[in-house]
Amino acid sequence: MSIVDGVVTYLEKQRPQLDALARDIWENPQTGFKETYAARLLVDALRNEGFRVMAPVAGIGTALVAESGSGAPVIGILGEYDALPGLSQRACAYKEPVDQGAPGHACGHNLLGVAGAGAAMAVKRMMETHGIGGTVRYFGCPAEETLMGKVFMAREGVFEGLDGVLTWHPMYANTLWAASSAALNSFKLSFHGRTAHAASAPEAGRSALDAVMLTDIGVNYLREHVIPEARIHCMVTHGGEAPNIVPEYAQIWYYVRAPKRTQVEQIYERVLNVARGAALMTDTSLDVEIVAACHEYVPNRTIQQALLRNMKEVGPPPFDEEDVALARALKATLPLGMAEDALRSYGVTADVVGDPLCMNVVDELGTLSAGEVQPVSTDVGDVSQIAPTAQMTACCMPLGVPLHSWQAVASAGSGIGRKAMLFVAKSLALTALDLMQDDTLLTKAREEFETQRGGTAYECPIPADLKPPTG
Ligand SMILES: [Zn+2]
Repeated sequence: MSIVDGVVTYLEKQRPQLDALARDIWENPQTGFKETYAARLLVDALRNEGFRVMAPVAGIGTALVAESGSGAPVIGILGEYDALPGLSQRACAYKEPVDQGAPGHACGHNLLGVAGAGAAMAVKRMMETHGIGGTVRYFGCPAEETLMGKVFMAREGVFEGLDGVLTWHPMYANTLWAASSAALNSFKLSFHGRTAHAASAPEAGRSALDAVMLTDIGVNYLREHVIPEARIHCMVTHGGEAPNIVPEYAQIWYYVRAPKRTQVEQIYERVLNVARGAALMTDTSLDVEIVAACHEYVPNRTIQQALLRNMKEVGPPPFDEEDVALARALKATLPLGMAEDALRSYGVTADVVGDPLCMNVVDELGTLSAGEVQPVSTDVGDVSQIAPTAQMTACCMPLGVPLHSWQAVASAGSGIGRKAMLFVAKSLALTALDLMQDDTLLTKAREEFETQRGGTAYECPIPADLKPPTG
């Protein structure tokens, strides 16, 4: 049996097990660093398949590495399984939480983690039956939603020694994620002043809230003088206790994003200068706390091309009438114009993607194409700075359904998501096996990576003493 047939046959046989895993994780959603249920399921499933499993990893209880084979080349496959807070939802076409206020898989990470594990299992099986040398390593990465898990793992050297890395993300199209993504700093600015009665002795008070508001005003002016691709967003996490007390403590939380890490660092310094100025103006003191940080994603075009070839070989997810009916019903719940706005923001048209479900493999998709920069950030960025990395997307939800919505939870828990998941597992497995067998491909990917890096080593963007918030 050829390797293509072998992978397809094996994963079709594993389908009930993989579907059950994805369903089980979807039914037991947990947020970042708390995803113990999913991590345990994946550890057990991979151990049962004969993987050597290491968990916890990098001091994180819900991080895991599962490995099979030995020696070079070493091919990594990434998985995530964290859910989002407050987005509990049934797998139906109307808004109905399973448990009001509980988390939900609104980014489809229940599929993301299982597809990668399924791919790794298929690679292991083919290595054994076809005598293919090398190592396949599955990385269970917690807390993607807060852009933390992989960065902490990267800081501890977990991704070192890899020759190629494959991953994916749920979306409404079957295509490559060939665009770069934004680097980011997430940080909290805390101001400390002095309380006083706001009416009888305001002159005795030093308002930390004034410092927060002046910082925000300063940053609003700053926005005119940064590159237009940068994004600076914030929320006030603490503004005081009561209007009649001059607030002695206030805090504002910023994200700074830009296409390159160096740009983020420059803008971050300027935001800090604004905050220092606000502290000076208000006679308060300032504390800076880095919450998270990541690099931009750098796609490896060589591996991408192999991945696209395999996606076409496998063929798109075989959605049936029931899937299309659910997709239509979910799409009908979107506010008027939302699907069109989503298409516009990705620079694509419905006829290219497919409506309501993507029934083909799209070569290039608008702003996900090579050379584009997505304004969002992902901690896959840090992995892509350490080893040649490629990622794909698969149609796990109807056209225009945004991630982080109840419709996305419903879709990720339905047959739509699970069919897409199997398409991904097959595509990733075949590409990993290509990399293991084709020295020329591997060398070309490495050369491309070295050229991109220009001889610079990976530098972890989070402080050396920052601990993962796992407690
Ligand atoms: Zn996600």
